[in-house]
This record gives sequence, C-alpha cells and structure tokens, in this order.
Amino acid sequence: MTSPSLRDLLRAYDLDPKKSLGQNFLADDAYLDRIVDGAKLTADDTVLEIGPGLGSLTARLVNRAGRVVAVELDDRLISVLRGMFGTRENVEIVHGDILELGPGTLVRPDGGDSLAMYKVVANLPYYITSAVIRHLLEAAFPPSLTVVMVQQEVAERICAQPGNMSILSVAVQYYAEPSILFNVPASAFYPQPKVDSAVLRLETRLHPATAGIDPAIDTRHFFRIVRAGFSQKRKQLRNSLSAGLHLSKAQIDGMLFSADIDPSRRAQTLSITEWVQLYQVVREV
Ligand code: SAM
Repeated sequence: MTSPSLRDLLRAYDLDPKKSLGQNFLADDAYLDRIVDGAKLTADDTVLEIGPGLGSLTARLVNRAGRVVAVELDDRLISVLRGMFGTRENVEIVHGDILELGPGTLVRPDGGDSLAMYKVVANLPYYITSAVIRHLLEAAFPPSLTVVMVQQEVAERICAQPGNMSILSVAVQYYAEPSILFNVPASAFYPQPKVDSAVLRLETRLHPATAGIDPAIDTRHFFRIVRAGFSQKRKQLRNSLSAGLHLSKAQIDGMLFSADIDPSRRAQTLSITEWVQLYQVVREV
C-alpha cells in the first residue's frame, strides 16, 4: 500500500526519489510502527537514524525516544527535514555520509567526551547495507541495539547457521546476536524495490562472541583466517586454507587435525567456535 501522503510530500517539494542513494521510502504506516516497536524505545533512549529520507520513521522515533540524531546524505532532504523537525528539541538533523562519520561521536551529547548507550533504527539504503552494518559493529563505540530494514536475502545470510555460513554471517555473529523480526514485501515501498525486505535485529554482544573462549583473540588475525577459508568457497578447507594462508596442504591438515576439524569440510559448515579453535592452532605456528 502506497501512502498518498508520501507521494504528496514528494510532489510538494518537487522531489524525485534518487535511485543512486537507495531512496525507496517505506510507505506503509503499519510497518513503520512495527519497526519502532521492535526497537523497544523508551524516553531514556538515544537513537541514531541513518537515512531519515522524508522523515516518516523519524517522526515516530521522536515521539518514543529521548533523543534522535538523524544522518542524511541527500542535501535536497536536509531543508525538508529541518523544516519538519526544527521545532523539536530532541532531534538533530546531520548532513553527511554515515560511512564517514563515527557513530559513537554522532550521538555524544554536545560533542563532549561522555559516552552514552544508543540504538540504531533505520530503513537502510540497500547499496551500502553490509558496509553500514560493518561500520556500526566495528565502531569504537557501537550501538547496543540495531533494528534495520535490509534486503530479505541479506538478513537471511546474516542469520545463517553452520552449513550455510559466509564471511558476512561470521563477521556479524562475531559482534552481535542477529534475528529477523519480520519480512516486508516490496509493495510496502515507494518506489518499489525489486526485492523483498526484512527487519533485522542485532543485539551487540558485550564482548565478541569468542570472548568467553579466547579473551586474547586478535580480531584481524582471526578474520584473515576466516577470509582464507572462504576464499574458495566450494573447496575443502585443506585446499582453500592452503592457498589463502600460503602453507602446504600437509601443514594445513595438521592444523585442522589439532583443531578437531575434518580437513575435507567446507568453510560454510564451521561454527564460530570452530573458527576460534582453528585460529588458536594457527596462532601458535
Ligand atoms: N527513512 C526513510 C524511509 O524509511 O522511508 C528513507 C529510507 S531510504 C531506503 C534510505 C535513505 O538513506 C535515503 O533518504 C537516502 O538519501 C539516505 N542515504 C543514502 N546513502 C546515505 C549515506 N551514505 N549516509 C546517510 N544517508 C544516506
């Protein structure tokens, strides 16, 4: 269902949605309400919204959260948003590219040094979905909770279990516990995207998933091994790791054996715990 008010708004401001900025506006009130419900906001919450667009999600966030910081890249929308929310004391509209701004710095009150917990709630621009999620989770000061609309297929890949794992699912599950809250059909947007969407919930872990197993983990080294494992996805681990880590197959077989992993398995079958076991063996070499 396309809300007539969204079309009216675009017409009133003489705006065409920009495909290059992923401007598929969510035009169904029921889904907008469900996203906000999914974030379980209270007056104590600070929310970072990425890509407020024409402000339909922002308006709901402003009514439920204590403070909203909304970052929008499209300069045409900045004056519209400032006109809409200029009188609200608890909203800050920031003009910029989220990938070039530190999420933690954006939500710091008055740019001070104090750190506060915050949540991210957004209907993400799909051309940078994975980059934004990575930017948030790897930030010096990540959000405690992220509730974002993404392509359904990406949401499913992020939530995958051993058997269907990818670099993306290992990377996200290392930092957060993901779940899909609900799916959203393409018909709920204006203009309609080509694919269906889903609202993804990421609960950031206090420490990476591996902290209980190995608090001294070197994240960069860990992901070098994961990337090597997935470098030739359909191949057995003994082959992909040998090529990716520049070690002989005999050496890799020995390491996998020590890590209690069958060398004929493929990268997508490993759990995060197994990647850590392998990392610990490789680290010692
Ligand atoms: N929140 C609105 C809604 O739900 O209808 C709009 C969502 S639309 C899918 C994505 C929004 O992100 C657009 O307004 C677009 O201009 C903005 N955007 C695109 N790239 C961005 C970036 N790098 N940083 C911040 N905003 C961006």
